[in-house]
Amino acid sequence: MERAITALKAADVLSPAAMLALPEAHLAELIRPAGYFRVKAKRLRHFLTFLQAHGGDVPALREVPHIRERLLEVSGIGPETADSILLYALEIPSFVVDAYTRRIFHRHGLVPEDISYEDLRAYFADALTPDVNLYKEFHALIVRTAKEWCRAKPRCALCPLAPLLPSS
Ligand code: SF4
Repeated sequence: MERAITALKAADVLSPAAMLALPEAHLAELIRPAGYFRVKAKRLRHFLTFLQAHGGDVPALREVPHIRERLLEVSGIGPETADSILLYALEIPSFVVDAYTRRIFHRHGLVPEDISYEDLRAYFADALTPDVNLYKEFHALIVRTAKEWCRAKPRCALCPLAPLLPSS
């Protein structure tokens, strides 16, 4: 991703308007280092078109009513991406859940394994005060826990969350 941003900077097209003005194939070439570049270029253009229709820059999206629902209507934006945009780009407290979250909380007997994205998100919305920094920190800790200990094969003996396992 960093290399794709460097390429966009080098081509002097890092602004939303400049990226949208590029032919899709050219945009795809520039973001090639990010992987799946053709699909990503198409999705990026959908998002940039949405952005242009709603003020032209990311901060302006904060003023759009029902912004989460609007983002979910953009082709290629799923709930995890929408919540990431809300939390990290717009600083709106919208909890981001992912496969790591589902894995850890299911292993601790707190949610069913097949819980839907929206139900898992609601679980956190019910439990936590809606606070941008708290949501960011919680998500970062979940990602760290999954990467260091709660891998496909869990390393519970080393994990700081072991005392919280249902069997403990
Ligand atoms: S103790 Fe750690 S590694 Fe084990 S299930 Fe819990 S989070 Fe995962």
